[in-house]
Amino acid sequence: MGKLKPLQNLMVEYLNEAALPTTWCPGCGIGTTIGGLIRAVDSSDIPRQKFVLVSGIGCYGGAGTYIRMSDIHALHGRCPSYATGLKLARPDLYPILLMGDGDSSAIGGNHLIHAARRNINITSIILNNHIYGMTGGQHSPTTPVGIKATTAPFGLADHPFDICRLVTAAGGTFVARTTVYHVAQLASLIDRAISHPGFSLVEVESICPTYFGRFKKMDSPVQMLHWLKDNTVSVNKAKEMSPEELVGKVVTGVFVEEHRAECVTEYQELIKRAQAK
Ligand code: SF4
Repeated sequence: MGKLKPLQNLMVEYLNEAALPTTWCPGCGIGTTIGGLIRAVDSSDIPRQKFVLVSGIGCYGGAGTYIRMSDIHALHGRCPSYATGLKLARPDLYPILLMGDGDSSAIGGNHLIHAARRNINITSIILNNHIYGMTGGQHSPTTPVGIKATTAPFGLADHPFDICRLVTAAGGTFVARTTVYHVAQLASLIDRAISHPGFSLVEVESICPTYFGRFKKMDSPVQMLHWLKDNTVSVNKAKEMSPEELVGKVVTGVFVEEHRAECVTEYQELIKRAQAK
């Protein structure tokens, strides 16, 4: 990753002034995530015109509207399918998926795991705030057990998905997690994910002060960021901790970084074999 420009300068360059102000609540973690994305794109060797944002539905799904980059606003949960079609038709382009926890692991869960299985060269930046924000605070597949939500007024009985483990099990070849507190790591992991030649995931542990914070009795964004700071452990430190010590902790860092055959390359080889017959 090259030298980072000051975020203030980048915002002027990358934000679509005509679409501002955003619809996001004060203190929401989406802005920080977009800041990390812009920094990574700007410092990448890949020209900005070659990236295509593919955004889904939800508060985070509107992000493409505010950024001066090519953008497809996909149907709910279908970002991986749109990006797969795009990448197969135009291998020279670099799709970046912007999906929330509900979009990627509920309605879009099947699309996510199959994109990972194929190891197609696309990058997904999943913003996990553990709740459906835009529609009023319903629980999602990543809401922790016991937490209250609009749809779980006495606390949730279900156990959550671990999105990084899910994508690892499905075959993703770059899998990492960070948080909106760790802004330098956020940009650096997105940069590594973009450069990775295969299916890559950066899960961003984010904050939704309006719903998740309120249900967790932490209604200040600052309080939520302090919680993230105090409850985050690195992958290496986590290896020395017991399962009991890891309860309630957010493990950050790179879980998987490996190389195996990539979908578009394999597909092109298949076309050549078929045409040679
Ligand atoms: Fe952000 Fe939550 Fe507000 Fe949506 S509802 S913009 S996720 S703080």
